Amino acid sequence: MKNRKMPKLLYADAKGNIFDHPDFVMAGMNGTEAVIPENVELIPLPEDSRLFTIPDTPPLAWDGKQRKFVSLPTIRENGRSKKVQAVSAFMAPGYVRTLLPACDYSRKKVHLPLWSYTAVGWDEERDCFVVAASRVDTNENWNPSNYDDRKLDPLVRKRLREMPDNRLLEQLARCAVDYHCFAAKNLFFRRWEAPIPTSPSCNSRCLGCISLQPSDCCPSNHERIQFVPTPEEITEIAVPHLMQAPDPIVSYGQGCEGDPILQAETVAEATRKMRAATSCGTINFNSNGSFPEKVRMLCDAGMDSMRFSMNSVREDLYNRYYRPVGYAFADVAASVKIAKERGLFTMINYLVSPGVNDHPDEVEALLEFIEATGVDMIQMRNLSIDPDFYNKRMGVKGRGIGMYRMMERVKKEFPRIQYGYFNRTRENFYPEGLEKGWPIQG
Ligand code: SF4
Ligand code: SF4
Repeated sequence: MKNRKMPKLLYADAKGNIFDHPDFVMAGMNGTEAVIPENVELIPLPEDSRLFTIPDTPPLAWDGKQRKFVSLPTIRENGRSKKVQAVSAFMAPGYVRTLLPACDYSRKKVHLPLWSYTAVGWDEERDCFVVAASRVDTNENWNPSNYDDRKLDPLVRKRLREMPDNRLLEQLARCAVDYHCFAAKNLFFRRWEAPIPTSPSCNSRCLGCISLQPSDCCPSNHERIQFVPTPEEITEIAVPHLMQAPDPIVSYGQGCEGDPILQAETVAEATRKMRAATSCGTINFNSNGSFPEKVRMLCDAGMDSMRFSMNSVREDLYNRYYRPVGYAFADVAASVKIAKERGLFTMINYLVSPGVNDHPDEVEALLEFIEATGVDMIQMRNLSIDPDFYNKRMGVKGRGIGMYRMMERVKKEFPRIQYGYFNRTRENFYPEGLEKGWPIQG
């Protein structure tokens, strides 16, 4: 093992100042095991990513002299010992992490908030931070530099004046201005993918739901929409977007709401009205897919694409995370299959975590799921949750085959499978050369 070429451990002092260590080597965690990242999974920290500390939790590193992983509650510097804490990266969208931050989770005292946590180190040769990750999408629309609030505010006021009685527009104005939701901002900028929240309720109880938290986790980031908009309120907003925006997508179920499948009749009616008004643009439905017959109705109402969320394709693990009420994982799989059979571009929103989604049983189950449903795309989303809490709830022990290896395996068995991170316009559902498509450099 040539330690000199491996990235170095990053750690933080008690105040959160971040340092690289001259000797100890960066480690990452797959499930509950510390590992040294493979070269193929080390990429420069993407622009617009953030570094965090994992409060009061010692980092783990590879000690080349002792040839073992060590926990480092303190580090000696200038002859003095100082208390240190682990460092984690929160990456810009479009990248899937392949390793969790390596730290001594047994000594973690706080429940970490709903962010995704990625292993990060310092690469002396490249003179940059590196993360254990792989790029899965090239869409750069979501770059923060595209969201200048000085341009946004006048547009929000203008649109509110144009539609003074539309409660949904009022809600989205709050999403854009108070919650700084990029998707909601797109609606006012009239471009790209815009959200259509419709549902105050959900029939899942996800451990890491961003819009409603049961008391055994931590506070949610955003508040759920409190009412069901009418089909007229929805179409008043969606039709101009579909007709005038560049690369237009309107998406149901885009975030801080329950699940739109519980408002399927309203959503179907609104979609029929949109398609009566225009054939332009892409209409997308994001959902837990809990009711296959409602999915069938929504396909026939005029959806172009559907994306179904899941943390695992193993029923047991799905149940532990989603805690479904009145439906089963088999219903979700049936929904994916129906959407594909109805000719829609069909995706899964795969909420991944190293150690769970690269477990050999999960990989085999995923291959079977792809074969059985015909799904087109796997959106590789980093599950935002405390990794230790999640591993414990999922009963993870040990490590998987590696996220990169898992993605390679799937691509080898199904070259037509697309990886991605964002929804697509219908012109881009099946791009040329999709057998390649991944890995993406940069
Ligand atoms: S994702 Fe959340 S904040 Fe954004 S538009 Fe939807 S409901 Fe609003
Ligand atoms: S399916 Fe979505 S809205 Fe429902 S509990 Fe899960 S994350 Fe929350």
